[in-house]
Amino acid sequence: MEFEKKRRLMVENQIIKRRITDKGVIEAMLKVPRHLFVEEAMWESAYGDFPLPIGDGQTISQPYMVAVMTEKLELGKDSRVLEIGTGSGYQTAILAEICECVFTVERISALEKKARIALEKLGYINIAFKIGDGTLGWSESAPYDGILITAGAPRIPELLFSQLKEGGRMVIPIGSSYSQVLTVVRKRKGKMVEEPCFGCTFVPLIGREGWSEE
Ligand code: SAH
Repeated sequence: MEFEKKRRLMVENQIIKRRITDKGVIEAMLKVPRHLFVEEAMWESAYGDFPLPIGDGQTISQPYMVAVMTEKLELGKDSRVLEIGTGSGYQTAILAEICECVFTVERISALEKKARIALEKLGYINIAFKIGDGTLGWSESAPYDGILITAGAPRIPELLFSQLKEGGRMVIPIGSSYSQVLTVVRKRKGKMVEEPCFGCTFVPLIGREGWSEE
């Protein structure tokens, strides 16, 4: 089956049927060639309803998880968004389709490099990359309308929250290193307003305001 058809089926069965309604998210997921973000040996499974390994013990998130997290950020064409955990770069591409610009941070340089090459090949010019500890955020380009953390955190990183605009949203899995609750954190009058959504499992967020390295 060609990839475009696989992509359409992925969006119909995994995204729309599960009540994702944000048009921007749906269009982006129909467009971005997810298989180009995994090794060629996994191209055939790239549109399946599960995460896949991307090397260095990390994973590309399940398509539905990418859709939910993006929808919960409530982004628009003028939004500036910060992503922590570039990983494969697939989620970065979805954000870049929807927003004005994406700032993305990855701690593993081999992954950052692969993601950057894939995204540059696809022609994205509204993405800025950084290698380092994303729990510290990216203060030079702050504040952000949305901040997405694609790894499981023990708590809300204070510095990241401080880089959020008033009224902005942070989407972050919070919990233990093997199971978390996807949480939306809003900044209202400078204060944190937390909305827990549902249980999930992400690789650990490792850094100064995350888990310590083994
Ligand atoms: N959105 C990515 C998810 C990759 S998994 C995708 O769908 O492909 C999470 C990523 O977060 C991993 O690549 C991991 O190396 C990275 N990560 C973990 N802790 C980090 C930190 N403190 N700063 C930046 N990246 C981090």
